[in-house]
Amino acid sequence: MVGTVDPMLQPPKIGDKLHHEIMIRKIITFPDPILRKEAKPVTVFDEALKVLATDMAETMYKAPGVGLAAPQIGVSQQIIVYDLAPEGEKGQCTALINPNIVEGQGKAIDEEGCLSVREFSANVERFEWVRVEAATLDGKPLNFEAEGYHARVLQHEIDHLHGVLFIDHLSSLKRTLYKKKLKKILMEDKENES
Ligand SMILES: [Zn+2]
Repeated sequence: MVGTVDPMLQPPKIGDKLHHEIMIRKIITFPDPILRKEAKPVTVFDEALKVLATDMAETMYKAPGVGLAAPQIGVSQQIIVYDLAPEGEKGQCTALINPNIVEGQGKAIDEEGCLSVREFSANVERFEWVRVEAATLDGKPLNFEAEGYHARVLQHEIDHLHGVLFIDHLSSLKRTLYKKKLKKILMEDKENES
């Protein structure tokens, strides 16, 4: 990665200086309409924002997932967190506020899944390289480049802030097949409940 250093969000411990009990939030799944809303830019960079980002990080680690966007826990604000480290080496979480892809180049196809899209993964075409503008949790401006897997995760998470899911990038046939599969999953859920 070239340019500025990622803002690191230290994985918090209960009872740390935030005086905040970590809350694992419920992850909202497709087809909940909350996932389709355009998230609002963050304008206040306060302690509550740090608490929210901390909850998001813990929710992501617990799931476990590589990244999480605020709309996935029902908060319609432009916040994403992610940790690209392999399983077992995680703990340095990056939080980006109001992130935007300002430039993209090249094409890459790779498999994606999503904590909000149950039991499904598929190949998605993304930019191979991107330039991102964002802010840190303290509101400091960032401008950096990312490529490969890092670029893919950024594009996936930033999509969430605009109500877009990775399945929207697939052919309508593949999307229809997934919707059928999901219907079955949801029916099985109901049967298990009763
Ligand atoms: Zn996702």
